[in-house]
Amino acid sequence: MKGEDLKVFKLFLEIAGISKERIEFHAKNFENSNVTMEEYSQKMVVEECETLFLKRILMRFSKVYDDPFLRKRIQGAIEKGIPPAIKGDFHVHTNWSDGTYELESYVKKAEEFGYKYISVSDHSLVNKGTVQMDERKFLKQMEYVDELQKNTPLRIFKSVEIDVNEDGTLDYPTEILEKADFVLGAVHFDYSKGKEKAFELLKVLIQNKVVKIIAHPLNKIGGDFFKAHLEEVVQLVKENKKVLEISLVPDRIRESDFLVENLKGRGVKFSFGSDSHSVKQLELMALSNLWINELNTNDIANFYEEPLEFFER
Ligand SMILES: [Zn+2]
Ligand SMILES: [Zn+2]
Repeated sequence: MKGEDLKVFKLFLEIAGISKERIEFHAKNFENSNVTMEEYSQKMVVEECETLFLKRILMRFSKVYDDPFLRKRIQGAIEKGIPPAIKGDFHVHTNWSDGTYELESYVKKAEEFGYKYISVSDHSLVNKGTVQMDERKFLKQMEYVDELQKNTPLRIFKSVEIDVNEDGTLDYPTEILEKADFVLGAVHFDYSKGKEKAFELLKVLIQNKVVKIIAHPLNKIGGDFFKAHLEEVVQLVKENKKVLEISLVPDRIRESDFLVENLKGRGVKFSFGSDSHSVKQLELMALSNLWINELNTNDIANFYEEPLEFFER
């Protein structure tokens, strides 16, 4: 018997797309076992995930669950629910890229939350092996959003999580990116050019005119390297009016801790992003409870009804 509330365990399975019935089965089974969630998921659950992405999410989140410090914090934050002052989510992936569900189902969920807006920010990833959304598909998606927009008072922001390439170019040309309501920029890349290169590309994104939010700013860079260049980052971010994302993905909690700890009170703008790849994952906006009290709410994009104006400040 694990003798603990399995709320987080169940939530993670639901995010990975496991059916309600199977979740109950697994919760009982897991409770009576002696294994870690990582071991359990690998052996018993992962085959039930519908897509490769959900399999990966399950395994990544299982590891987080096995860390008692993170698990307790997640449980506490989830119990508080999404703070009522949060007006929307800036980072969502649908099945136009590697998300699992249709755009409509995210919109519906956001309406249920009472959000004012949601941003559709699928991956470009043109030059990273698997094209997820090239510029033609992106233009199509924007038309599609315009159609959906007619049927809902929820504002659907047209966005994209644009990748920066090794040579410093972005996946789409500027004139395409300018058609979006705003752009998230991200360093992903799968090659191992090291932190130096990742940091150089981060600075390219910060200085790019059309990029507004820097998604998961510590990706491939890490805290120590970032900290060594902290003053440079603060200066560039302010000069270029960029917003740094506080990622709500469970295995980025420590990165987000780092950002908040080192940048709070410095006049830097932040946004919370769930980086959802499944509709259920939108509920992880509740993880914003982990940092909200440490930040000045005037600095957080999600607290604004008109975030596009906030971005330009
Ligand atoms: Zn990303
Ligand atoms: Zn993303």
